[in-house]
Amino acid sequence: MPGTELFGAEERKEINDVMETGVLFRYGHDAQRNNHWKAKDFETEVKKITGAKFAHAMSSGSTAIAAALASSGIGTGDEVIVPPFTFIASIEAVLFIGAIPVFAEIDETLCLSASGIEKAITPKTKGVCLVHMCGGNAEMDSIMAVINKHNLILVEDAGQAFASSYKEKFTGLFGKAGSYSFDFFKIATAGEGGVLVTNDETTYKKADVYSDHGHNHEGTNRGMENHPYLGFNYRISELHAAIGLAQTRKVPGIKESNHKNKKFLQNLLSKNSNITFAKLGDESGDSATFLNIFLTDTETAKRVVAEMNANGVGGFNYWFTNMYHFINQWDHLKNMQTVSKLPVQLTGSSQDYNKLSLPKSQEVVGRLISFGVRCTWTDHEMTELASKIIACVEKVTASVKV
Ligand SMILES: *Cc1c(COP(=O)(O)O)cnc(C)c1O
Repeated sequence: MPGTELFGAEERKEINDVMETGVLFRYGHDAQRNNHWKAKDFETEVKKITGAKFAHAMSSGSTAIAAALASSGIGTGDEVIVPPFTFIASIEAVLFIGAIPVFAEIDETLCLSASGIEKAITPKTKGVCLVHMCGGNAEMDSIMAVINKHNLILVEDAGQAFASSYKEKFTGLFGKAGSYSFDFFKIATAGEGGVLVTNDETTYKKADVYSDHGHNHEGTNRGMENHPYLGFNYRISELHAAIGLAQTRKVPGIKESNHKNKKFLQNLLSKNSNITFAKLGDESGDSATFLNIFLTDTETAKRVVAEMNANGVGGFNYWFTNMYHFINQWDHLKNMQTVSKLPVQLTGSSQDYNKLSLPKSQEVVGRLISFGVRCTWTDHEMTELASKIIACVEKVTASVKV
């Protein structure tokens, strides 16, 4: 989680600006706020990095993806194609706006594939919630061809892929709207926060209104301005935005260090022929927050994980069994355990979530181990880590051959 590696004076300065005026609210209070507009500045910084025409900061990546889906016109009864490998927020967002998740296959990019999407399309499919996993980017040319061919709405959950781009265009900007997360575990953190981006003004205005109880933020009479739609409270506070602003300014530097370190480690690991690497839609646009390695098969990956745990190698995720990011761990979803009734429990789904067959996704995530790339790593630390990983892989693969 690189952002938190570089936490310090810059974040304190932005926070102190807010503390000095006491205006913790992002709207109005013009006389008291001493011209500090942290949420607006945070949005401007995100626009600067991504080239998005519009950005709207919110309370979390989860609320930003929900707002992106709703503002794109997806709602109750609409089927949305989703991946089985994602932080569950993407699926919850689809469910809580009333829509119906339909799971499709990912591939070695760790993202939905064009063929996976196409196979999951039904007459009720309205859109696709594409998740750019582990800092990377999906194979956008082939995905856009399917989106356009079937006239679907694309919404991108780039929660883990802020500052990642595909052929010079940033994740989040390929469809109607996209979202980034700034929670504690991402390339930059606001403590808690998210940012919706879009190049479409109508979608932006809907998201702006939707995320603040319908206020359209025009004029100066807070509360009594126009309210074109119903909304809810997805607002970010100035304190969170202040941290997000300071952190976002550091992202170009973080990305550069991540790239260098990822390449260094990858070169060392590629000396072992049992280790291969996840694909990227566009390697040069990678935010490089993760080095994603593949072992030959799930059994080998599990044994390497056990070996690394036994030898004190840390800093990695084995999503297949040990993390909350894969469908195998989502029993509450499969059994529809909800605190109160959701629209999907009335509309039904074309998929039985208990009987999904996603062999490609199982195979890909089964042999995947992801190392968090640190922007502050030294060459010495990376060399040590690589030799420990290789030793574990060699031990496992040697014992398999015997
Ligand atoms: C982190 C994350 C989210 C949720 O973000 P929060 O800010 O924690 O709500 C959504 N989608 C993906 C893919 C994520 O990794």
